[in-house]
Amino acid sequence: MSLLIVGSIALDAVKTPVEEHSNLLGGSASYAAAAASFFSPVRLVGVVGDDFPESEFEFWKSRKIDSEGVQRANGKTFRWSGEYSWDLNTRETRSIGLNVFEHFKPALPESYRQTDFVLLANIAPSLQSHVLDQVERPRFVVADTMDLWIETARADLDALLTRIDLVILNDSEAREITKETSLIKAGRRIRKMGPRYVAIKKGEHGALLFGEDEYFSCGAYPLEDIHDPTGAGDTFAGGMAGYLAGTVKKVHFNDLRKAMIYGSVLASFCVEAFSLERLRKLSLEDIAQRYETFKLMSQFEVPI
Ligand code: AMP
Repeated sequence: MSLLIVGSIALDAVKTPVEEHSNLLGGSASYAAAAASFFSPVRLVGVVGDDFPESEFEFWKSRKIDSEGVQRANGKTFRWSGEYSWDLNTRETRSIGLNVFEHFKPALPESYRQTDFVLLANIAPSLQSHVLDQVERPRFVVADTMDLWIETARADLDALLTRIDLVILNDSEAREITKETSLIKAGRRIRKMGPRYVAIKKGEHGALLFGEDEYFSCGAYPLEDIHDPTGAGDTFAGGMAGYLAGTVKKVHFNDLRKAMIYGSVLASFCVEAFSLERLRKLSLEDIAQRYETFKLMSQFEVPI
């Protein structure tokens, strides 16, 4: 089954303590689509400017990512620039150029309106809702968000949370949105705000998953060489949603556990190189191999 993904498509500039690159393909939808495309066909929704490389459309085509929903607008593509501190865990946004994103109003092509699985990757929650308004009875909706929207668009975010099945956030966002210090309490409280399932990412320490009476904790793959953490969260979300869309008819907690491990596996590849470079070269065999290692490492007590 196809997965509809809406989010940002960007040209990024990224500085780590050892390297600096600019004009990199970035954006939440770009990472999520590349990750999801290993498991299911993707219908992409976003906007790019006239400086956006035509080669990326070719890349999407080669990966069964339908780009009919990507608008081409006059002006520059959304630009984001960030700098990482020495531990590669904290990052500062250096600049944002909204450019064509400023007046972006996602309009779904007719062929996208019936899509069973939807991933609302990180963009303003009002735009995420606007996309959801145009999809006819989706089966499973996943949404990602960020601290900016918790701080500046809380009412829109609260409204969105009542309409989705799974929300993905990181630990600091979960604490910020609930004002809880305990992540367990935070996960439970966010469920009460609407979504049936909540995934909380803890960076290099893995991720937590909350269902009604179910709970799952997943470790992170022990990577020695991290080159660029940008997009790890978006890749995680894309891997999770792509796995669900590609393999599951009706989503149960156990499917979400597997999806979370696939999301973690994809994210671990993403950070091994700048931008989407590692995801571009990745094979299904690479993913399967790391998934097996991941399983052994986690020593699951319950077969999945
Ligand atoms: P992540 O590292 O998973 O938080 O995602 C980083 C990506 O998010 C970068 O490629 C940026 O282009 C994109 N991004 C940064 N700020 C925003 C924003 N306000 N809205 C949408 N996408 C953004």
